[in-house]
Amino acid sequence: MGYRVRIDPNVCIGTSQCAEVAPAAYQMNDAHTVAVAKHPQAALEHLLAGARSCPVEAITVVDDATGEQLYP
Ligand code: SF4
Repeated sequence: MGYRVRIDPNVCIGTSQCAEVAPAAYQMNDAHTVAVAKHPQAALEHLLAGARSCPVEAITVVDDATGEQLYP
């Protein structure tokens, strides 16, 4: 059971909240301008916590098995 995480670099405004709330799942890129998925296999609670913290809904979480969009 896995999940797919997409962070839209055109929407992300680099606030770092996702990486602070869920460091197991997200980190900032080297330039600290946009977030990137750190461990796509991270626990769902971490993936969702980071996604929910994003002020611009740049993060999409999808259930890999069913294709169901879990967030937003
Ligand atoms: S919380 Fe959203 S806007 Fe902020 S770094 Fe993460 S993805 Fe980008």
